[in-house]
Amino acid sequence: MSREITPPPAGYDAGREQMLDFKVDEQLLQVVETDAKNFILTTVDEMFNWARLSSIWPVTFGLACCAIEMMATSATRYDIDRFGAGAFRATPRQADLMIVSGTVTAKMATRLKLIYDQMPEPKWVIAMGSCAIGGGPYFKYGYHVVKGVDFIVPVDVYVPGCPPRPEVLLDGLMRLQDKIRGRKGRFIAPKWVTDYAKLIPYRK
Ligand code: SF4
Repeated sequence: MSREITPPPAGYDAGREQMLDFKVDEQLLQVVETDAKNFILTTVDEMFNWARLSSIWPVTFGLACCAIEMMATSATRYDIDRFGAGAFRATPRQADLMIVSGTVTAKMATRLKLIYDQMPEPKWVIAMGSCAIGGGPYFKYGYHVVKGVDFIVPVDVYVPGCPPRPEVLLDGLMRLQDKIRGRKGRFIAPKWVTDYAKLIPYRK
């Protein structure tokens, strides 16, 4: 009985099939060829920084409503994993980044400092949201709220908003990557900020 040969499906691309057929030996030969331009020169510092900025592991830690946005950032829609920062660690001893996402009460401040102290060097802090940055809506009457987490731990990046959307947190993460890479950020004030600043009497 002869075996029936199934014809290729519609849209079959033989060239693409060939592209996916890796010729391992030939590729290895290219790597060992001395005249092939397949090497890079860099400093040890840059290599370490590249490794660090590509694997910033945050500590699993959230304080209030901003933490919900932080969780959304790590979910599939925003995919923080593409920055190498999706491995939220359950212990500060394996974490590089503390995202302070929420209201820092006086009672929580000592715990926060303890978690920060337990993280190994080098370590970074993102202050996420108005509460972490400066007390937020509790600034005036919240006797129990710390008016800025930078009173307790050094902050590297401030991410404004109440709460900041996941895109903004990802932007803050990229600014942190810039900082680790050694690049300085450049602040360009939007026009509405400069216009508004001109209206403030003491600036005239
Ligand atoms: S900044 Fe706004 S959203 Fe974030 S913790 Fe404070 S009140 Fe909640």
